[in-house]
Amino acid sequence: MKCPECVKTHQTSRCFRNNHIVASMPDGSEYWDEEGIFHRHDPHWTIKSFHCDRGHCWTVRWRRPCPACKFGHIEPETRIVNPA
Ligand SMILES: [Zn+2]
Ligand SMILES: [Zn+2]
Repeated sequence: MKCPECVKTHQTSRCFRNNHIVASMPDGSEYWDEEGIFHRHDPHWTIKSFHCDRGHCWTVRWRRPCPACKFGHIEPETRIVNPA
C-alpha cells in the first residue's frame, strides 16, 4: 500500500497503520441456511486509518462479503482525511 496523497503528488513515503476501528458485529449476522450453507451478513463497515511520514492521514473502509451469496460485497473505499 502507498499513501494515496503521495501517489497523487508523486512523492514517496512510509506508511503506518493507526489503531484500527472495527465495527461490532450484530447478533444474527452469521447463520446457516436451510441447505446448511454458512452466511455472514455484516451490514457494518470496517474502518482502518493510516498515516504516512509526510503527515497525510487517510482511512480505508470496506465490508466483508458473505462467502455464500456475496451479500455486502463492495469495493474498498479510500478517503483522504487531511490532505496537506
Ligand atoms: Zn503521504
Ligand atoms: Zn449470504
